[in-house]
Amino acid sequence: MTRLLLIGPPGAGKGTQAVRLAEAYGVPAISTGDIFRSNVKNETELGKQAKAFMDAGDNVPDSLTNALIRDRLAEADAQGGFLLDGYPRTADQVRELDEYLASHGEALDVVVELVADPDVVVERLRKRALEQGRSDDDESVVRHRLEVYREQTEPLIDIYDERGLLVKIDALGAIDEVTARITDALSGRGIGLPDAATA
Ligand code: AMP
Repeated sequence: MTRLLLIGPPGAGKGTQAVRLAEAYGVPAISTGDIFRSNVKNETELGKQAKAFMDAGDNVPDSLTNALIRDRLAEADAQGGFLLDGYPRTADQVRELDEYLASHGEALDVVVELVADPDVVVERLRKRALEQGRSDDDESVVRHRLEVYREQTEPLIDIYDERGLLVKIDALGAIDEVTARITDALSGRGIGLPDAATA
């Protein structure tokens, strides 16, 4: 049973690592950004409400985001653990997640911070804009997303650090290397890979 949270600036590689880690630990990767993007694509009511905030690089309001994550965490596949990517992003979302988990007798095991230099993430996002054409990877929007991260999300790192849950990982380097850094750090905290137990 592993409950992980990935935190870090846009472009640090959260999405990439989330998919790999979720597979390694046998839990679903839950990305609020992916859920919002799929709602926008399918033109759902939620997508219509979220789109303008996303295009501007602003956070979607907490009321919408919290409702979405409550529904997602209640699904069957999340009962045996999960990896949250991109949530919580605000102090209000931390409170919401705390309350949700506490009311189910659960708690987070570890919070992984992916640490990356702003210049590097801007460059990575510039490349992603060319490859994937995400509308919020436009350069001025990227700069705004970094500001929003610094103002609203970075302060959450101290909260989790004070709880003794924080593991800081250098996000620079090859994708495999970064994954190995994370799995090593987690095994140092007693969170092993399911396969390693039988090896
Ligand atoms: P991401 O894929 O995590 O970079 O998220 C893309 C966009 O989705 C963000 O810029 C926000 O507009 C929105 N979003 C994703 N997760 C959240 C969240 N936890 N709270 C508010 N907005 C979010």
